Amino acid sequence: MKVAVKGDTSSFAKEIEQACGQDVLTCYQCRKCTMGCPMAFKMELKVSEMMRAIQLGLREEVLSADTMWWCVSCETCATRCPQGIEIVEVMDVLREKAFKEGYKIPLKTIEAFHKVFLDSVKSYGRLYEMGFAMDLNLKLRDPLKDADLGPVMLSKGKLKLLPDKVKDLKSVKKLFENVKKLEESRA
Ligand code: SF4
Ligand code: SF4
Repeated sequence: MKVAVKGDTSSFAKEIEQACGQDVLTCYQCRKCTMGCPMAFKMELKVSEMMRAIQLGLREEVLSADTMWWCVSCETCATRCPQGIEIVEVMDVLREKAFKEGYKIPLKTIEAFHKVFLDSVKSYGRLYEMGFAMDLNLKLRDPLKDADLGPVMLSKGKLKLLPDKVKDLKSVKKLFENVKKLEESRA
């Protein structure tokens, strides 16, 4: 049975709930999420601390934190949470809000990573690893980063020289168009 934090009516928590359906107010700070999070050692604000900050309505502190940018969406926290909170969904909402509202992304590689990844999916319907690595290196102005690994991975069949495209690329492009329209309608 879920237990709610009484007397806390943080509008920020409500805003998060409206965006992803996760009721952060039910978090009772057992810290199981933080104890299991493989990225906790990197986060200034740990997952459970972030949940509490949302409950308290500390919008600025949460959206400028590095927590959601270090999260690798491994789902460990959600699996351990006795309240059944899908914390990854909360992280997604926080990333989206922080990005849209112009908060500085504390890790410079993250924005480039997302952009290059989505460009690859848009072009081929899936990730073209070789192109992804080269584009990311160029974007980060480090063109030779890990270049020595390329030939080894190619020779072992871990990388392909040319991209594979999905059969129904039209549907993938349509998906991107729909997301764009949705974003424009929300703006
Ligand atoms: S999903 Fe994110 S926050 Fe949750 S345990 Fe994994 S890395 Fe940590
Ligand atoms: S595991 Fe769930 S209830 Fe426990 S602190 Fe984390 S979010 Fe809150």
